[in-house]
Amino acid sequence: MTSHPTASDLYEVVRMQLPRISLGTVYRNLDQLVEAGEVRRLHTTGRETRFDGDIKKHDHVRCLRCGSVADVHHTPFDFTNAGIHDSNGFEIHGYNLEFTGLCPQCQHVQSEQDSIHSIETKNTKINRGKGRQ
Ligand SMILES: [Zn+2]
Ligand SMILES: [Zn+2]
Repeated sequence: MTSHPTASDLYEVVRMQLPRISLGTVYRNLDQLVEAGEVRRLHTTGRETRFDGDIKKHDHVRCLRCGSVADVHHTPFDFTNAGIHDSNGFEIHGYNLEFTGLCPQCQHVQSEQDSIHSIETKNTKINRGKGRQ
């Protein structure tokens, strides 16, 4: 299980212990934990809501390819005091910041695909060259 599971990730795990539990029950329990401040609901832009057992203030980075989420503990800037109040009169209590990119695994896949692509391109050129002769 990832460190930022979705409700269905948790459901799969809980179901091993409690085979008759429903996804709805898992959702309700998660809602209660979020309200009690024990679990944080992540406002990431992925398909499914993710949950975080680490309620200390931190931001997240999401992989654009596989959707995995990792912690960013040292955001170089605190947007709470970014002067947003001055532009619209809101009293700022927090923000949701999400970085996006490629996780280490997907960077690996990407570079493999790039090299396959360049080999293919080379072969095509060679074949074309032979064809003209
Ligand atoms: Zn990834
Ligand atoms: Zn986190």
